[in-house]
Amino acid sequence: MKVYKFGGASVKDAAGVKNVASIIQKYGEKDLVVVVSATGKTTNALEVVIKAYFDNTDAKAAFEVVKKNHHQICLELFGNETHEVFDKLQNIYAEVDWQLEEDRKESYNYVYDQIVSQGELISSVILSAYLNEVGVKNSWLDVRDVMKTDDTYREAIVDWKQTQSLMNSVVKPLASGSIVVTQGFIGCTAENCTTTLGREGSDYTAAIFANMLDAQNQTIWKDVPGVMNGDPRVFEDAVFIDEISFNEAVEMTFYGATVIHPKTIKPLQNKNIPLLVKSFINPEGKGTIVGGSDNNLPPIRIVKNDQALITLHTKDFSFVEDEIVAEIFSSFSKANLKLNMMQQGAISFEAVVDNIPEKIEKVKAALQNQFDFSIDEKLTILTIRHYTNFDYINKFKNDRNAILEQRRLSTYQGLLA
Ligand code: ADP
Ligand code: ASP
Ligand code: MG
Repeated sequence: MKVYKFGGASVKDAAGVKNVASIIQKYGEKDLVVVVSATGKTTNALEVVIKAYFDNTDAKAAFEVVKKNHHQICLELFGNETHEVFDKLQNIYAEVDWQLEEDRKESYNYVYDQIVSQGELISSVILSAYLNEVGVKNSWLDVRDVMKTDDTYREAIVDWKQTQSLMNSVVKPLASGSIVVTQGFIGCTAENCTTTLGREGSDYTAAIFANMLDAQNQTIWKDVPGVMNGDPRVFEDAVFIDEISFNEAVEMTFYGATVIHPKTIKPLQNKNIPLLVKSFINPEGKGTIVGGSDNNLPPIRIVKNDQALITLHTKDFSFVEDEIVAEIFSSFSKANLKLNMMQQGAISFEAVVDNIPEKIEKVKAALQNQFDFSIDEKLTILTIRHYTNFDYINKFKNDRNAILEQRRLSTYQGLLA
């Protein structure tokens, strides 16, 4: 068994869908599960629909934009509206329109998932139909029939046991000697409500399939030649890396290298399944093998923007001792806000987090009786792994002032103002 994952960039328009189909036709053997994300920026467009719904503005008009984009893609792929794919999409659209008429405004995260998940359903229906059209027989699978989760909407946790059992009974027979096309990012509760696994979560979905199907390997097809020693959009001199270990990959993604979703590595490492990061623009390219060894790695740079520095000061001059630290951690954990950097003083604690106002508000509400709370915004974390010398670090700080710096043997982190 093999698993392919195609992200939004690869299927952003009709030419993209055709290219993906040609990759599957050329390189995809049987016993293949294809996981696909929503086309292009569809997930963001659906977030606009959701915002309009909660703001009581014209959500249906916002959804028309999504329909129109996909209609255009389908016209280019299938020629005219007589193809059955148009009816299938109408059924999906009808469900969204129906949701938009309902008054469920009390539960934002629930509504969010019911609507945002439609992007993957739409793209997978289109890809599956187009593959059949060009003679690549495949079955379309509604991933919600197998990917079972809890009801933490927008960041659902996979029920590993139940999902494994459904993988065995449903996916294995379906993919055996054949090709299955399904959706990334989405799942389903025991009560049959749609959930999502967190933004950019399709790489993770593919890794869950790979783990549970004991796949030979997983390939994620990207718009870059593979893993590089920095985002080429940020670092013009970024170079391609042939091979990295699971350990390096998990560290890189933890610090914010967005080329692979951070949750992707564990399910693969646990079963020693290699991850290939390949280019859908140049599928002949060898791509990066994740799960190999780290030979002479160059310094790897990671930039995380839009960071907030939260400073907590005990109001009564109590030391920030174990119990208080435990309380601080618990407040961040309950708000589901990850600490990207932290530092402790005698009566203060500094935490650097992604600037997500609603989560920060939760932390503030929990801690403001005990602490003075201040926040600095618009900061950047620069992480450099395997830095060779301090000149190298200074070069990338780019004259920006580092207000917090941490150095370990292999990793430098600076919070830049
Ligand atoms: P997908 O289409 O699967 O959603 P993403 O856009 O999430 O793909 O990931 C690919 C992008 O990751 C690239 O376009 C690149 O800008 C970015 N990126 C960030 N860090 C790296 C890195 N170290 N190596 C390669 N690409 C990187
Ligand atoms: N479509 C989802 C997103 O944009 C999931 C993904 O692309 O991986 O977040
Ligand atoms: Mg993505």
